[in-house]
Amino acid sequence: MNNTAFNPFEMAQAQFDKVANILDLDSGSRELLRSPIREYQFSIPIRMDDGTHKVFKGFRVQHNDARGPSKGGIRFHPQETIDTVRALATWMTWKCAVVDIPLGGGKGGVICDPHNLSMYEQEQICRGWVRQLVRNVGPIQDVPAPDVMTSSQHMLWMLDEYEKITGGKFPGFITGKPVGMGGSLGRTEATGYGLIYTLREALKDMDINPKNTTAAVQGFGNVAQYAIKLYNQLGGKVVCVSCWDQNDQIAYTFKRETGVMIDELLAVTDRFGGIDKSKAESLGYEILPGDDWIKQDVDILLPCALENQVTGETIQNISEKVKIIAEGANGPTTPAADRVLEERNIFVIPDFLANAGGVTCSYFEQVQSNMNYFWEKDEVLGKLDLKMTSAFIAVSELAKKRKLYMRDAAYVISISKVAQACKERGWV
Ligand code: NAD
Repeated sequence: MNNTAFNPFEMAQAQFDKVANILDLDSGSRELLRSPIREYQFSIPIRMDDGTHKVFKGFRVQHNDARGPSKGGIRFHPQETIDTVRALATWMTWKCAVVDIPLGGGKGGVICDPHNLSMYEQEQICRGWVRQLVRNVGPIQDVPAPDVMTSSQHMLWMLDEYEKITGGKFPGFITGKPVGMGGSLGRTEATGYGLIYTLREALKDMDINPKNTTAAVQGFGNVAQYAIKLYNQLGGKVVCVSCWDQNDQIAYTFKRETGVMIDELLAVTDRFGGIDKSKAESLGYEILPGDDWIKQDVDILLPCALENQVTGETIQNISEKVKIIAEGANGPTTPAADRVLEERNIFVIPDFLANAGGVTCSYFEQVQSNMNYFWEKDEVLGKLDLKMTSAFIAVSELAKKRKLYMRDAAYVISISKVAQACKERGWV
């Protein structure tokens, strides 16, 4: 979303087209799966704290629900676009299929900047979003979740509005709820931990001890923070993280050659994953330009912030030392960069596999909410590890067997499953 010329939906379609050709997919399935099955765009009128009125634009896209109810987050972002939401909904379909959970792909958004909105104004946006969509979402249709700049509090307001309108208790309507209010233990950690479960398996495959590795991370929000925690536990060293600076309106990289100390950095980080520059400087961090995370002499790159970061241009900056890119963010790598990564033999754990821990745990939350019976954290994380590890092994074995690039192998698995579900239902 930081580059207006970049269209993530065109990228999602280009990735799909490539693998549809590998699979020799029939024309009906291609046409159906290239585009979302349903889209909603609407206005959310809000009375602001100062008494004025503002209208915010909201979206929900359901890409495909042949394998189960749609599932996907809601992003609050000033540069949200329908094409971003379409791309993310599409990737959700492939993500649910690759980890083999019985759900389809959806995504939502509102064009707004929570930095400039009071909590009450944000609550009105959440309730307004649900009022516009109440007939089109729900536990058996489409189950929303938090995403960029939305939290468990936003989910609870949405649940409350849904239950007010429908007149019942439907904790399975939404996931990412606070623990104690229908949320699952382990959900906060799930995406970052899931990313590192797949990285651990990749290192095992390559016979590399995580203790002998270093990594550079883009982002310092939910995904990055928990990924760093678990990677540190495995013995890996993170030399830098980058994040967006709300005051300066640019990104910075925070580097410490001896290794980033997660807890001390968290103490100077706001709830949006923004690190306080002067406090970090006084802790001994070197402050570098935002793009410098990608230039580091490390073994592993973990893009955990935004789409369109590893591109035809930025790829020139990736060090010869880099062996693995594990994509925490959605869509961080463009097809042009993919071609170079493949040539350079850099092992890529593609986004919709690498960051599927979040939706997998959301699925666990849905199951627990519908049963009204909640599991211990160890049980949740154990089940998550199992799902992520078996999905990784399935993709890497297919990649080896058919000599496919990892992203293409993951797509082959997902597209085949979804296309088959559509066929069996008689849709194509
Ligand atoms: P977040 O809002 O918690 O954190 C985002 C981080 O990125 C922040 O630290 C922010 O400062 C940083 N950032 C923003 N612009 C930047 C820039 N130009 N350069 C460097 N850093 C920048 O978000 P999150 O939940 O951690 O999600 C990060 C990515 O992972 C997104 O692409 C999201 O769609 C994807 N994702 C998240 C989840 C989840 O469960 N949270 C699941 C799957 C995928």
